[in-house]
Amino acid sequence: MTVAREQLEADVLIVGAGPAGLACALHLANLIKTHNASGAKPELSAENIYVLEKGREVGAHQLSGAIMDPRGLADLVPDFEKTAPLDTPVTDDAAFFFTEKSAWRFPITPPPFKNRGNYVVSLSKLTKWLGGLVEASGVNLFTQFAGASLIFEGPGIAGVITDDKGMDKNGQPKDNFTAGYELRAKITVLAEGARGSLTKQLVSRLKLDNLNPQVYSIGVKELWEVQPGRVQPGFVAHTLGWPVPFEMYGGGWIYGMQNNRVSLGLVVGLEYHDSLFDPHEAFQKFKTHPFVRKMLEGGKLVRYGAKAIPAGGWYAMPRTFFDGGLIIGDSASFLDSQKLKGIHMAIKSGMLAAETILEALVKGDAAAGTLAAFPRKVEQSFIKKQLWSVRNFHQGFQHGMLAGLFNAGLQQVSGGRGLVDPIRVHAGHLALRQLNGRKPPAERFKGDGKLTFDRLTDVYHSGTRHDDDQPCHLHVLDMNICVDRCVREFGNPCQYYCPAAVYEMTEERGERKLKINFANCVHCKTCDIMDPYQIVDWVPPEGGGGPNYEGM
Ligand code: SF4
Repeated sequence: MTVAREQLEADVLIVGAGPAGLACALHLANLIKTHNASGAKPELSAENIYVLEKGREVGAHQLSGAIMDPRGLADLVPDFEKTAPLDTPVTDDAAFFFTEKSAWRFPITPPPFKNRGNYVVSLSKLTKWLGGLVEASGVNLFTQFAGASLIFEGPGIAGVITDDKGMDKNGQPKDNFTAGYELRAKITVLAEGARGSLTKQLVSRLKLDNLNPQVYSIGVKELWEVQPGRVQPGFVAHTLGWPVPFEMYGGGWIYGMQNNRVSLGLVVGLEYHDSLFDPHEAFQKFKTHPFVRKMLEGGKLVRYGAKAIPAGGWYAMPRTFFDGGLIIGDSASFLDSQKLKGIHMAIKSGMLAAETILEALVKGDAAAGTLAAFPRKVEQSFIKKQLWSVRNFHQGFQHGMLAGLFNAGLQQVSGGRGLVDPIRVHAGHLALRQLNGRKPPAERFKGDGKLTFDRLTDVYHSGTRHDDDQPCHLHVLDMNICVDRCVREFGNPCQYYCPAAVYEMTEERGERKLKINFANCVHCKTCDIMDPYQIVDWVPPEGGGGPNYEGM
């Protein structure tokens, strides 16, 4: 279908209103103010900065553990402590090793788990607050608009096409159809988070890949309200061991928040071998550990979410500049996978991008040569120092937890080098092993409805909403593979790794079929990452759809 699109022009278009995108917008607006006040030419305007956010409001799709290292925010908003919605400073940090029935506290908290000086926050609340500052600075922030495709022009990009609204499930326009806009910009900044759909297109088309492919972990999280006194606000615990099998990378977290709230979750590396492994179920088991159960008993589930986390670090960072644009935040791999912290780097990368963009606008040149100043600024910032010291961390776990801990110890004393530098890895889906006679479980995990839950109950608590009558945003490029090969070779792992019960193999009159319950999708991107045949392409649904991670 050919559609006429309204064209809008901006100086700068930022896709994604997470910490990176918002920091870029706010810092650029501040820089423009100073630039104009100095009388320098050309005069610029914050109104020519557009930010697109696919969630129903700023913060709706923001999910993190989340402990924030305040360095980035302190640079962006020096008096942030006066107004930012910080939940609580970290007051006590601990690391535990779990067996199924016991918890052993490490006598000394290992340095990566030390969190004094950091804050437990709700990333959703924090970005909502930042969004308010961005709007007050004069920037145009559009929620419920997804970047559907890039406008490729010459050797680079010239903006994005936003999502069409009002298409039915067969791809036909409904009465309320509105064509997406053609948003053209001198500079387009991709700040989509982990495994961004536009970033994926761009990296592949412009060949921006680095030494290693990006690898990921998945974090599955619940927010609970517990009985008073069970967990002190500011108490932070990280766990290793059960229920994550030793041949896998992973661990749990428990963070005490104000008002008897507890953030807890499990992270596992998306390079595991067992195609029937189920991260959601593993997290539910985590809550049954006596140490965790004791905290949660008598409490109630408030919210649920899941998200992929970029874990490849420095050696998986794509080239972050190209003609007409930059990549920042999680999309650019700015996350310390050892400390599981990226908010401060996302903010800093957004600020450094803003400084690069101001120089480019003043010069009137958005070519790659000018925008190459961005990675040079990154090199001189704390981002490089921090990422360089953990450049081989996640890769060191590719042969399991014990080898990983040994590698991590060596890297700790050798400034990140370890025995081999760089450690080369393959994309995570290649680690999945075929069933070889193993049978999928006869029954799926149901939970007890009090402490543990099935996926649909959890999806309900994610606030996820999509209009059912729209094209499915999970493009499975060859459904025959699902029923002819995948069922036999891998047992349809999409049914297990998806934490939102989206994929379901059904049988009708003897015919097997893949049913895609796309309305459940919490936008974690795991299917796009882990599908063994790489035939799942996650594209944004109609803007405004997806989870609502309010308070997460
Ligand atoms: Fe995550 Fe894919 Fe499931 Fe959506 S369909 S929740 S992106 S695994």
